[in-house]
Amino acid sequence: MSKIGFIGLGIMGAPMARHLVAAGHDVTGFDVAPKGLDALVEAGGAAAGDVAGAVAGAEIAVLMLPQDEHVEDVFFGAGGVLESAAPGTLVIDFSTVRPETSIRVAEAGARKGLRVLDAPVSGGERGAVDGVLSIMVGGAGADVAAAAPVFDAVGRTVQRVGGPGAGQYVKAANQLLVGGTFALVAEAIVLMEAAGVDARAGIDVIAGGLAASRILDLKRESMLAREFAPGFRIDLHHKDMGIATAAARSAGVALPMTGMVAQLIAAARARGLGSLDHSVLLKVVEDLSGR
Ligand code: NAD
Repeated sequence: MSKIGFIGLGIMGAPMARHLVAAGHDVTGFDVAPKGLDALVEAGGAAAGDVAGAVAGAEIAVLMLPQDEHVEDVFFGAGGVLESAAPGTLVIDFSTVRPETSIRVAEAGARKGLRVLDAPVSGGERGAVDGVLSIMVGGAGADVAAAAPVFDAVGRTVQRVGGPGAGQYVKAANQLLVGGTFALVAEAIVLMEAAGVDARAGIDVIAGGLAASRILDLKRESMLAREFAPGFRIDLHHKDMGIATAAARSAGVALPMTGMVAQLIAAARARGLGSLDHSVLLKVVEDLSGR
């Protein structure tokens, strides 16, 4: 079992850290907000007062932070992982950030003898709570193998997809698919309701055909009931669509649907819906239709 420092105990990080404790690891956490720390201590982990305290003596440092600036701060900042982790430490960054950020972190880490993996996840809060996340990993094969005990505790599908930053490109592809699916589920619901048909029965029959999807399965009830507590916040999906459109530009490809979905998500944010679940795209489509 490993000694693990876990930074970022939010919607995703808190249940993931709990799974690591349950798997027998010695987990010390840090978060700038107290809620996740209290939950970790209750689950049998320990709380540190800062990043350095969490990674001191750790064999593995785990990050699960919202955006690029948080990862940069926690990794490169004073008392951060780069400064505080011992050479040889395995750093697993589960956060969704720009590929360039993951590459910079991996290169700076390697110069100090740290073994860094970008390992963004899919599966949402439900997947984190159930310990069945899909994990897309960029980094050296030997380091991915060394991370197996952590991946096994929090995930079900784990794939190494290339070197540093590769995990973030796959996550960008994942997020454009998720955003596009939500946008079209929203349009399907708006159409059925406007036409006066039974939208719940409609969704049920659709979910049995070729348009079946996990998003339909997991989110149809809450969307039909207009319950939009996160889950995954619009603000974070807005960040992810920015990553996807920038990745498309640097890869030299045109992704027109991604651009459209990014604008719908931007509209949700502009309407003050940023802290709600991304399924709130339903409200944006309703607004566009004057409903
Ligand atoms: P969150 O905002 O709930 O949690 C992030 C946590 O990081 C917060 O508790 C925050 O206080 C903490 N934090 C921020 N700055 C910090 C710092 N400098 N030091 C220590 N802690 C700090 O976000 P989340 O929903 O858990 O998402 C985390 C990451 O996972 C994001 O990159 C997101 O895109 C990705 N993700 C989220 C989901 C989801 O469904 N929520 C699914 C897959 C991937």
